[in-house]
Amino acid sequence: MVDWIVPHPHGIHVVPADVWVDPGRPVDRALVTHGHADHARGGHAHVLATPETLAIMDARYGAQAGGQPVGPGEVVRMGDVDVRFVPAGHVLGSAQVVLEHKGERVVVSVDYKRAPDPTCLPFEPVPCDIFVSEATFGLPVFLHPPVRGEIDKLLAALRANPDRCVLVGAYALGKAQRVVAELRAAGFDEPVYLHGAMLKLFALYETLGVRLGDVRPVGTFKGDELKGRIVVAPPSASGDRWSRRLPDPITAMASGWMRVRQRAKASGIELPLIISDHADWAELTATVAEVRPGELWVTHGRDDALVHWCEMRQQKARALAMVGREDEDDEMAAAGAA
Ligand SMILES: [Zn+2]
Ligand SMILES: [Zn+2]
Repeated sequence: MVDWIVPHPHGIHVVPADVWVDPGRPVDRALVTHGHADHARGGHAHVLATPETLAIMDARYGAQAGGQPVGPGEVVRMGDVDVRFVPAGHVLGSAQVVLEHKGERVVVSVDYKRAPDPTCLPFEPVPCDIFVSEATFGLPVFLHPPVRGEIDKLLAALRANPDRCVLVGAYALGKAQRVVAELRAAGFDEPVYLHGAMLKLFALYETLGVRLGDVRPVGTFKGDELKGRIVVAPPSASGDRWSRRLPDPITAMASGWMRVRQRAKASGIELPLIISDHADWAELTATVAEVRPGELWVTHGRDDALVHWCEMRQQKARALAMVGREDEDDEMAAAGAA
């Protein structure tokens, strides 16, 4: 059995290469799967990641010294380990880290999804000895509906309320851009108005070739001008003073947690949109069945049910219970828990 990678609460150590995957504290050499804050931290001496993830880290943390972009298909030899990045379908630039050593293969996927996303490359299954997965939505109750139906709900609410605006709460990296790209794919070509915290990443997405159409900073517009418009803001902004300037906003939230009605209600969400960048139960189990790893390692989330599902099928699995893994959907859950 594979004995050269060691999980720690704050990251996965690839021993023969002395490199860490998504370390939670500064290290000498890091492999970073994607730009969400719980995976990409600043302060590492050397970072290997996809060019898009490095660009996102530069935008969020300021220019990173020691960034080494690893392009599609490129193999980097570190110690005695071959390292490459394969798309994870989670957000722009997100990747699975494929590690090969002594004829054994480990795939560290962490966050991923299988549903189509116009803002990033689709997940590619890679057969392996150990597959490292998340389980944010690892319960059978979590089934994300097709995104198009959720987008249609958003557009129907907009059309039915010409004197109001729709304020969509969406995580600033990935979710916000995906919602706008899906609106464009549905034929919506009117301007979309953005909270100031969104501007930098939207501009970066455009630079990296993701077309998001006519987006404008909300800052320069007055209440009446925003009637009948879509405004996108971070989840935390919908309850604060900022949103009071908007014309009678319909509060919407794009999150996998919107499947849980009590949660939407408790957060005062009028229009829950079940849109997640994490695999749902069907995607998690289908992916394990497809990848058929010698052993599944579950980093975080509702790991019990997934590990149990594996055991029922003679699929070896273990929960790692890694700390500090909370991102776009979890942030919304935290905001809504109050
Ligand atoms: Zn993530
Ligand atoms: Zn995460």
